[in-house]
Amino acid sequence: TLGLIALDIYGNITVGVSTSGAPFKYPGRVGDSPLPGCGLYADCQVGAAAATGEGDKIMCFCPCFHVVLLMKQGLSPNDACESVIKEIINRVGDEDMFELGIIAMNIKGETGAASSVQFTYCSWTQEKDCVEQLIRSPC
Ligand code: ASP
Repeated sequence: TLGLIALDIYGNITVGVSTSGAPFKYPGRVGDSPLPGCGLYADCQVGAAAATGEGDKIMCFCPCFHVVLLMKQGLSPNDACESVIKEIINRVGDEDMFELGIIAMNIKGETGAASSVQFTYCSWTQEKDCVEQLIRSPC
């Protein structure tokens, strides 16, 4: 899944995802990606988040809604993503943890990400006009 969060100069924030879904999926399967709160979520007063990984498990946790909720409570995008991943790891245990990566941005334009596996994401701003590649170690 490819997730994209965009913030314009007026403070409008949006999130979108594009996914091919899970390999060998059942015809008609709906994964986490199009489900608000699961594969993506945006709140115009707070920020947005997008997820990638094992959708059938991801959708049990509404992680994108959770990340945005934590940002609303004052956490940075990075801390919010990390907190959600760590909480899910605690819930399911190290052995059963699945692939899950989350990116987030708040309406100040601060970005962050966290993942249960090595995770690379990119950031671009008009001011810098260059793509910054960031790598996160697994939580
Ligand atoms: N989350 C997607 C799905 O399960 C797959 C992915 O992120 O690659 O449909």
